[in-house]
Amino acid sequence: MKIIKSRRKTLSLQITEDANLVVRAPNSMSRKIIYQMIIKHKDWIEKKQKEMLRRSQLKDKVINRKMFLYLGNQYKLQIVKDQKVPMIFDEGFFLSESHLNDEKEILLKWYKVKSYEIIAERVDIYATKYGFKYRKIKITSAQKRWGSCSSNGNLNFSWRIIMAPMEVIDYVVIHELVHLVERNHSRSFWEKVKSLYPQYAKYNEWLKENGYLLNL
Ligand SMILES: [Zn+2]
Repeated sequence: MKIIKSRRKTLSLQITEDANLVVRAPNSMSRKIIYQMIIKHKDWIEKKQKEMLRRSQLKDKVINRKMFLYLGNQYKLQIVKDQKVPMIFDEGFFLSESHLNDEKEILLKWYKVKSYEIIAERVDIYATKYGFKYRKIKITSAQKRWGSCSSNGNLNFSWRIIMAPMEVIDYVVIHELVHLVERNHSRSFWEKVKSLYPQYAKYNEWLKENGYLLNL
């Protein structure tokens, strides 16, 4: 709190942008009276301070725009007012101001939904093309295990791989499809992967180098 005395005739209260209280008072006004006035306007002061804090936090978020990966590209997260849905993706992430506090949850949900959409499509394309039979596709949150194939023919993929470029996603998809017929990483497994996706080594390498980036 800051008290500024001057030749003014009345007292005024102001909340600054960083939520501090500034009191402007006449030279002759005693401290006791000033404090009485502050107490009298306590509710107004608190309400204003809260509002200013919220605004400055919002400003920080907008200025420190965060970047998130999607299909190998980085997109900004921006805060928008008056948006009815929590988040829209349109060459950038547009988060509704009213969802500032659950930004991570909303992004995570979006990545999970989107990853199922993309991965299921890629699996279907390659399974049809090369004649693989699988049962179900499940999306996981695994940190490093980008994909796995269960003995009953279910395929699991971490939602994180949709942060990677499409070529990397395709490599993971083909890798798991080949596991349907070759359970372990034998020489014949890798030969089969190579015959279906000759550039696979490059993308396997990409995951080893950049995998830590596939994170929220
Ligand atoms: Zn494998």
